[in-house]
Amino acid sequence: MRTAKLSPSLFAANIFDMKNQIKILQNNHVDLLHVDVMDGNFVSRMAFGADHIRMLKENTDIPLDVHMMVINPEKHLEAVIAAGADIITIHQEATNCLYHCLQTIKKAGRKAGVVLSPATHPANIEYVLDVVDMILIMTVNPGEGGQKFLPDMLNKIRQVHAMAKDRDIDIEVDGSIDDKTAVLCRNAGANVFVSGGYIFNNDIGQHVIKLQQVLNIKR
Ligand code: ZN
Repeated sequence: MRTAKLSPSLFAANIFDMKNQIKILQNNHVDLLHVDVMDGNFVSRMAFGADHIRMLKENTDIPLDVHMMVINPEKHLEAVIAAGADIITIHQEATNCLYHCLQTIKKAGRKAGVVLSPATHPANIEYVLDVVDMILIMTVNPGEGGQKFLPDMLNKIRQVHAMAKDRDIDIEVDGSIDDKTAVLCRNAGANVFVSGGYIFNNDIGQHVIKLQQVLNIKR
């Protein structure tokens, strides 16, 4: 079984208190920091660019798990790599040169991942399995807030888990992940859990601990 990891999503953090909130995450031994890059085009919202990633990199040791919700990610890879992203995931739907993008990330010595929006079938990534370190399955529509977890995605997680076989690929889930949906996804085969609203809602430390408990993550 793949080791479970927690990747709190900074989009849900309070921007006025981000330094303290990241410190709480660090003190609670989260594995990754999830950074959503949104271009107002692939998704309607806008968020975090390469300059923000650089600032985060300079101020925390938590590896940065950068989720590119942008059209034509190939235009931005160089900047995001230079900024210090440790893991870069790009949407299958966002580019005509997926394989090349993944190779570019790998050549730079970073971990490369591919993301599947809810309507995308796992068969679309069958031929990139040998170049990816991570597959991210969206469990809500990308880039929109306040959505309900899509239970149909549990079957997709099972399909991706079966496709990945014994390859060293992390299976990440993103969207409405709390102490209940995380367990459902874990049982279906996911091992990296993005959580935003649930963790940052109020007591950050307590919610991180709760997720670590239900996922059997050692602190
Ligand atoms: Zn994300």
